[in-house]
Amino acid sequence: MSAHVPINNIIPFSLVDGPGARCSVFLQGCNIRCAYCHNPETQSLCVACGACVRACPARALTLEAGAVVWDSELCTGCDTCIGTCTYRSSPRIRHMDAREVFAEVSSYQPFIRGVTTSGGECMLYPEFLLELFGLCRAAGIGALIDSNGTIDFSEHEGLLNVADGVMIDVKAWSDAWFVHLTGTDGATVRKNLAFLAERDKLEEVRVIVTEGWNDPEDAVDGIAATLGRRVGAARLRLMRFRHFGVRGPMASAPSPSDARMDALEARAHELGFGEVVVS
Ligand code: SF4
Ligand code: SF4
Repeated sequence: MSAHVPINNIIPFSLVDGPGARCSVFLQGCNIRCAYCHNPETQSLCVACGACVRACPARALTLEAGAVVWDSELCTGCDTCIGTCTYRSSPRIRHMDAREVFAEVSSYQPFIRGVTTSGGECMLYPEFLLELFGLCRAAGIGALIDSNGTIDFSEHEGLLNVADGVMIDVKAWSDAWFVHLTGTDGATVRKNLAFLAERDKLEEVRVIVTEGWNDPEDAVDGIAATLGRRVGAARLRLMRFRHFGVRGPMASAPSPSDARMDALEARAHELGFGEVVVS
């Protein structure tokens, strides 16, 4: 049985986390630091500094035995705690094991096409995913992984056997741009892309289009070259950078123009992607 893991949120019905209506499970903690992260409060684990406890206007937070305890009944959802935390964390975390998450997910089964695990980076918790996806598969619930791609999927064959597929972000292609955007290199992402395509587990490839923070044209070219003859089976999602929720230097960065998105979409079609989605 897997250990309890930090769950940032479970959204019963999402239309943006894979095909159809899906229950989305967001795990807390990430291994990289993307400058354009829209949920920076999911990046780190709480260090129990107490700042949000003191700031909470509803007294929904307490410090007990060196840990923050969140009372969801008292919480008004004002997000003061998120704005207060300087550690890119959240006190509104539930620690749940796979069976507890499955119980919640399966209660939505009549209304969803499947479950998607995201984050943070959900691949930081592969044993949890293995058990959750096994339970989902036995119950006839499809399961997708939404990942930043920096953890080697070839070391998790068992998980891939119970997952329907992986939606993977390609944040940049060259290491220079990858480091600029995330603080780490993209070697494992490129390796995963080829591996998942070969295993027929590549559900979607995503590129966030920025002005001056990555080179999305280079990324689309690199993805197409890596997929080779499989490019015609791939769905590519081109996502326009938007600053909502972003902190730090990209908080005021511009979004790309319609003309640039159109040109990139046309380029992707020319390269032979089976499906190109712009959002
Ligand atoms: S969102 Fe955070 S600060 Fe606001 S009431 Fe809830 S716990 Fe307190
Ligand atoms: S969530 Fe952030 S502000 Fe609140 S106790 Fe944890 S580290 Fe401190």
